[in-house]
Amino acid sequence: MASVSIHPVLDGGVKPGSAAFTGGTLVCACADKPVKVAIKGQIAHNHACGCTKCWKPEGARFSVVAVTAHENVTVLENGDKLAVVDPSALIQRHACKGCGVHMYGPVERDHAFKGLAFIHPERFQEAGWAEPGFAAFVSSIIEAGVDPSEMDGVRGRLRELGLEPYDCLSPGLMDYIATWTAKKSGVLKA
Ligand SMILES: [Zn+2]
Ligand SMILES: [Zn+2]
Repeated sequence: MASVSIHPVLDGGVKPGSAAFTGGTLVCACADKPVKVAIKGQIAHNHACGCTKCWKPEGARFSVVAVTAHENVTVLENGDKLAVVDPSALIQRHACKGCGVHMYGPVERDHAFKGLAFIHPERFQEAGWAEPGFAAFVSSIIEAGVDPSEMDGVRGRLRELGLEPYDCLSPGLMDYIATWTAKKSGVLKA
């Protein structure tokens, strides 16, 4: 199933991260005046995502996306090129107006993910970022134009790569969101 393409940084096999990684710099795809964003510390919850909102490189079926605390994000250079893709979205995706790469997407609204920022670790100029551990919103790639008949092959390839496919987020993250919601409503004691 190696012929089923998922994402350029995953198609050759998932490369394990390094415990020595302490952060790095995300760089957009502009040849001239690229946007540079510093990320402090190792990333968390890295995964392949099939939703239609995440930034993906040309031709990729999935994005690779992870989170960090928003306070770990610092725009270093050419921040004037950034604009929020959809101000009404939960994730405020800051994209480069030149090349379209999403550089960071904080969650500022009252939500389980408040205080986090979503980033695309493949844009790190350094190696060693934590590898993806699962695939989210897999069925959504059909909304981006993938033929439904290809889905068995896509899910099979994701499993082969060790990325268990889910059609929403992973059970751990879905439980996390539901726990936050239950505590907010008072059904669970905070
Ligand atoms: Zn750019
Ligand atoms: Zn996504």
